[in-house]
Amino acid sequence: MCGIVGYIGPKSIDSVLMVGLKKLEYRGYDSAGIAILDKGEIVLHKAAGKIINLEMAIKGHKLAGSAGIGHTRWATHGEPSKMNAHPHTNQQGNIAVVHNGIIENAHELREELKTDGFIFVSDTDTEVIPHLVESYIKQSFSSEAAFLKALHRLQGKFAISMILENEPDRIYFARRGAPLIIARGEADKGKGKFKEAFIASDLPAIVPIARESYYLKDDEWGYLKDTDSYVFDWNGEAIVPNYEKIDLKVEDIEMGDYPHYMLK
Ligand code: GLU
Repeated sequence: MCGIVGYIGPKSIDSVLMVGLKKLEYRGYDSAGIAILDKGEIVLHKAAGKIINLEMAIKGHKLAGSAGIGHTRWATHGEPSKMNAHPHTNQQGNIAVVHNGIIENAHELREELKTDGFIFVSDTDTEVIPHLVESYIKQSFSSEAAFLKALHRLQGKFAISMILENEPDRIYFARRGAPLIIARGEADKGKGKFKEAFIASDLPAIVPIARESYYLKDDEWGYLKDTDSYVFDWNGEAIVPNYEKIDLKVEDIEMGDYPHYMLK
């Protein structure tokens, strides 16, 4: 189970994601990737191996965007490779998903989706999620309802984050059995102050920029929209997230003289 980070706000989306992914490196991983909503289009970059390879892949690309998600992967289904690195998308590439954990019924879902004409390009369990969401959108469900319907089909443990091209101001999230945090902060830009919102599998990914966080409970899901958060239970009932001040400081998460974060 590895790392997730997501951001909506005035800062450069790719920088926030890359800094966040680097702070999650201590957890170990085999590949990394980001998806950014850039002028209503999902732009995807992935690389096998270390984050530096992802940095090389991004270098020279002008990335500007309204929202984005990033991931470090620890393979459970499919070998460590660029193809299996997250984010995973549907065939049109207008839905992008990152996932930590294991979808236990991925094989059955994959076979069902393949019968319905969905084409898979990776060996991961994760790839069933964007196809499932698309299948419900095609049945005229709203993105929100399609996401919840897809969640109801998944068995196993997961933390999920998703962006869609037709909703460039949103990041969806869901948690069952794998940690996921939503958070908020305020950024200075020029003479103004602007709100910002985050998703992370682990607090170090967003310290020191996020100010308040809410640890999602199992079977909670929702979305960040224009830096506001909307959280629901598995039946779709709204929940008011109880945000708490983040007390963690940079010194608390940096390794200092320790050779490894876990030793600290
Ligand atoms: N099961 C997923 C995969 O193999 C996610 C693994 C993870 O938690 O990084 O791609």
